[in-house]
Amino acid sequence: MTNLYTYYLQVTFISLVVINHLAEIYLARRQVNTFQKNKSEVPFEFRHFLSLADHQKAISYGTARLNLSQARLAWDAVLLFYWFPFRGAEKLYLALPDWGIHHEVLFLVAFTAISMLLNLPWSVYTTFVLEERFGFNRSTPRLFVLDRLKGLVLAGLLGVPLLYGIVFLFQSFGSLWWLWSFLVLTAFQFGLLWLYPAVIAPLFNKFKPLEGAELKSGIEDLVTRAGFNAREVFVMDASKRSSHGNAYFTGLGKNKRVVFFDTLLKDLGTAEVLAILAHELGHMKLRHIPKSLVASVVFSFIGFWIMGALADENWFFNGHFVRVISPGVLLLLFTQAIPLYTFWASPVFSWVSRKREFEADAYAARETKAEDLVSGLLKLYQQNASPVVTDGLYSTFYHSHPPAYERVRRLESLKA
Ligand SMILES: [Zn+2]
Repeated sequence: MTNLYTYYLQVTFISLVVINHLAEIYLARRQVNTFQKNKSEVPFEFRHFLSLADHQKAISYGTARLNLSQARLAWDAVLLFYWFPFRGAEKLYLALPDWGIHHEVLFLVAFTAISMLLNLPWSVYTTFVLEERFGFNRSTPRLFVLDRLKGLVLAGLLGVPLLYGIVFLFQSFGSLWWLWSFLVLTAFQFGLLWLYPAVIAPLFNKFKPLEGAELKSGIEDLVTRAGFNAREVFVMDASKRSSHGNAYFTGLGKNKRVVFFDTLLKDLGTAEVLAILAHELGHMKLRHIPKSLVASVVFSFIGFWIMGALADENWFFNGHFVRVISPGVLLLLFTQAIPLYTFWASPVFSWVSRKREFEADAYAARETKAEDLVSGLLKLYQQNASPVVTDGLYSTFYHSHPPAYERVRRLESLKA
C-alpha cells in the first residue's frame, strides 16, 4: 500500500510541476498578446489621462517583465526537478554532518542559502538591466549589496532561532508537536507584523511624517474620521532604490501606519494624495489586516495539522523523492511543494484581495472625491508604466488589484 501511495504522489508531483509550468506560461502568453493587440492606441476610457507614448512605454515594460518571468518560470521548474525527482534535497541532507537537532537546522539553512544564491542573478538582472533600461532603477551596486547583507543578517537572527524552536518541539513534544509549533509560529508572525514598521522597515528606509501646509489640515481631518492618529502617516525615501511610486498600510496596534513613497508624492496634487490616503485608511478602517491575519492563522493551523499527520508517513517523504524522515525534510517539503498544490487556488486569493481594493476605493470615494482617486490612480499607472489593459484570465489568477478599467468604472459610478 505504502509503495502505491508513494508512486501516486511521485506521479502527481511531477505532473503538477509540468502542468503548472505550462499553465503559467500560457497565462503569460495571453497577457503578452493582450498587450501587443492594444499597443497602437490608448483605450478609449483612458484617453484623457494617458499619452500614447506613456501607454506604449507601459506595454513595452510590461512585455519585457513577462518575458523575463517566463524564463524565470522555466528556471524554477528545472530547480524543482533537481531538488526533488533528481533527489538534490536528499543528497544535500545526507551530505551534511549528523549532529542531531543542528543537522535539521543546518539542512534548512543550507537549502535556503543555496536558493538565495541561485536567485541572486535574477535580482541583479531585474534591477540593473530591466529596471535600468526603462529608467526606473536608482539603486547602486553598493546599496544593492548592503540590502542583501542586511536581509541575510535579519533572516539569520529571526529565522534560525525559529527553526531551532520548531525542530526542538518536534523532537520533544511527541504527537502534539505540530500544535505547539503552530502556536510558536503564530506568535512569531504577530510579533513580526508588530515589529516590522517600527524596527525592521527603518533598517532599509527613512520614514518622515507626511507634511506640507495644505496637506496638514486635510490629513488631520481624514485620519481622525477613520479613527487614527495623524502621526501614523509617513513618507518613505523609496526614491533611493527606484522611481516606482506606491503607498501601503501595515502594522498592528500602536505600530500601524500608512506609508507613502516619496516618488509618488512628487507627481500628485494635494487632493490626489488625500484620496489615496483615504483608500489606505479604508483598508485600515475595514480591518483588512486583522482579516488577513485570521485567514493566515487558519491556513497555518491546517498546514501544521496536516504536517503532524504526515510527520512519520514514509510514503509522503518518498512520494516527494526524499528517502529520509526528519523534521527538517518535512518543513522543506511543506514550504517548497505546497505552492504546487495551492497554485490552483490563487484565483480565490486574488479575488478576495481585489474585493478588498474595491471596498477601500468605495471608502475613499465617500471620504474624498472619486475623481481625485481616479486621477491619482492613473498617475500611479503612468508613473509605474503599468499597462491599463489586461487579459481577463491572467488577471483572475494573479492580480491583487482590480484592472484599471474596472476600478475606474466603479469609481465613476460612485461619483453620484
Ligand atoms: Zn489598496
